[in-house]
Amino acid sequence: MVSTISLWNDGPALPQGPAPTMSGSMIDSYGRRIDYLRISLTDACNLRCVYCMPEDMRFKPRAELLQDDEILAIVRAAAELGTTKIRLTGGEPTIRPGVVELVRSIASVPGIAKVAMTTNGLLLADLAEPLAQAGLQALNVSIDTLNPAKFRRITRWGDLHRVWDGVAAAEAAGIHPLKLNAVVTRGFNEEEVVDLARLSIDRRWHIRFIELMPLGSVADFQQESVVSSAETQARIEAELGPLHPVPGHDGHDPARPYRLAGAQGQIGFISTVTEPFCAGCNRYRLTADGKLRLCLLRDREVDLLTPLRQGCTVEELKTIIRTAVWNKPWGHGLPNGDVPQLRVMSQIGG
Ligand code: SAM
Ligand code: SF4
Repeated sequence: MVSTISLWNDGPALPQGPAPTMSGSMIDSYGRRIDYLRISLTDACNLRCVYCMPEDMRFKPRAELLQDDEILAIVRAAAELGTTKIRLTGGEPTIRPGVVELVRSIASVPGIAKVAMTTNGLLLADLAEPLAQAGLQALNVSIDTLNPAKFRRITRWGDLHRVWDGVAAAEAAGIHPLKLNAVVTRGFNEEEVVDLARLSIDRRWHIRFIELMPLGSVADFQQESVVSSAETQARIEAELGPLHPVPGHDGHDPARPYRLAGAQGQIGFISTVTEPFCAGCNRYRLTADGKLRLCLLRDREVDLLTPLRQGCTVEELKTIIRTAVWNKPWGHGLPNGDVPQLRVMSQIGG
């Protein structure tokens, strides 16, 4: 028998307790329905974005990461508990060997209605079509500037043209809506938001601007470099005209959607720091080393790797997941200076 909560890392005091037994769906102790699991397929990456990780980042050996069959066991259990949407992320998910077959397997799990991926796009030119064929339905591509030199400076060595080829391949593969994510970082790309926003005029893409979040060893840099969504919105409106709120906003989507007059696509603001969206949060996260992380900005995690390798039953695994989700925190501690220390963003997946 495996204990129901096998590992809590340090974190703030939370309401603790056993989850009520229910079939077919999970709620947390605040009544939020939790049906969206983000899975980090690897902590490694082929870039080193300045706002995400230190240049000398060390990655975990593969043996310490979840294997394909372990990920699938967790996805099956999660699906039986009412999880309907999976997003694959990283590090960089496309560098995981066998990623296309893994997408195919996840997409075929009964109950999983949507499989999405967040990627830096470097390998998409070759992978977009096979991923779409395997069942990937949605793609977010991270692209912080349209200026190749600035892109190289932000990513430390990335080639913007390869990402742009990847975006074109995703569109050719019929993935819609294509979402482009830009983290706005003072001194690196705050002026670039206008060119990125302009892409939404002639394309059906969603261009989303993300506030920089502080985590781990790069938190000091991140806190100094945050640009608020309000500042980004003002910069875009000064150049391109007013942004009009898009009606019918899905309360689970952290991006507040807007549209420029006559534009085909949308512009979104993800304002985690200045306007947290905890009330609409329906997500939980699985790190590449097999920990359930219940809130991006809280260090409290629950170990699934150890019970899996100890041979826990499906019902035991489901109990661990259900209990972890029940104890999902509300609210991050950034206003009180409570910065998560355990991991940097690449080890969680965004
Ligand atoms: N490598 C993939 C990518 O870049 O899209 C997936 C993993 S990456 C950690 C997921 C998202 O988190 C990206 O859009 C990235 O720009 C964003 N991100 C990374 N560090 C961040 C931070 N400190 N604050 C806010 N977003 C961050
Ligand atoms: Fe890699 Fe994505 Fe982090 Fe950039 S943001 S270093 S691409 S994991």
